[in-house]
Amino acid sequence: MKRPRCVEAGRMERGVNVPQSYRLARRDARSERTVVRLRGGASFGGDEIAICAGPCGVESGEQLDETAREVARAGANVLRGGAYKPRTSPYSFQGLGEEALKMLRDAGDRYGLGVVTEVLDPRDVELVTQYADMLQIGTRNMQNFPLLREVGATRVPVLLKRGLSATVQEWLLAAEYILLGGNDGVVLCERGVRSFDVATRNLLDISVVPLLEDLTHLPVIVDPSHAMGIARLVPPIAVASIAAGAHGLLIEVHPDPPNALSDGAQSLDCAQFAKLMRRLAAVAEFAGRHLPRRKPSGDGVSAPGYPASAISGESARNPESEVRSSTSGVKLA
Ligand code: PEP
Ligand code: MN
Repeated sequence: MKRPRCVEAGRMERGVNVPQSYRLARRDARSERTVVRLRGGASFGGDEIAICAGPCGVESGEQLDETAREVARAGANVLRGGAYKPRTSPYSFQGLGEEALKMLRDAGDRYGLGVVTEVLDPRDVELVTQYADMLQIGTRNMQNFPLLREVGATRVPVLLKRGLSATVQEWLLAAEYILLGGNDGVVLCERGVRSFDVATRNLLDISVVPLLEDLTHLPVIVDPSHAMGIARLVPPIAVASIAAGAHGLLIEVHPDPPNALSDGAQSLDCAQFAKLMRRLAAVAEFAGRHLPRRKPSGDGVSAPGYPASAISGESARNPESEVRSSTSGVKLA
């Protein structure tokens, strides 16, 4: 039978002929692995692990300031926080919009943290790029193709979460949309997929961490918070993710989880996060990597364990041989 022109010679995957067309994302599309670098110094894909931490949603200036201060003190290098929240119910907290974007930028600058925040709507992309260092595409939007094209047209790094029930192939093809627009700064984020079992919020597919190392040159991080849905399970899974080779973590932290407006059950409080960071330092070393070496900020907040003389902000074993794009901050290791 004649093959339709639009279907390339692909593998049969569960009876469906899928095109093998993630040609920009595939491992051999580049000779080196991609390192995605944010304005402010955080990097994904090199020897330095990126630690993105903060509340699910930005609720107030005070809540965000306290969280940012404490996660910076504990050694995180990227502040996360939702300004636009994709909520299952339209009656749930939807986020504070641009007001929250301003708070994120201020807190990020105050404590020397990069800022990652979700963009839900292609019409908001331009606004969000004015405040954020990295655009998050949430699980529900992994196949929102107009949104992928819109962020692909920017030169701001993108954190692409795996869809609720997306195959690895679909996920890499979503990344392909962004790469095709000329934006090389894509970081993949495993956050668990829907499963038959509701004992945890989602089922973390930790196998994708080493698997993606073979399939793509793009960095991969893990979000244990949305995978587990239960704060007590977050630290062991964060540790396991780094041991498996993840280039970073996305962790929800709230100063008062029981009173959080969203995702309180899975949020660590600031002390729990600091304790986890101390555990992660040893695991990172085991994995041949290291936690962020943050420059002290104006407020004197710097990561514990790094004397001022050792804080460089750069990885000595991460030669930046080629700058792919001066605006996206994407470099090849
Ligand atoms: C989030 O990071 O707060 C979020 C909504 O994540 P996800 O898209 O993975 O559900
Ligand atoms: Mn959340």
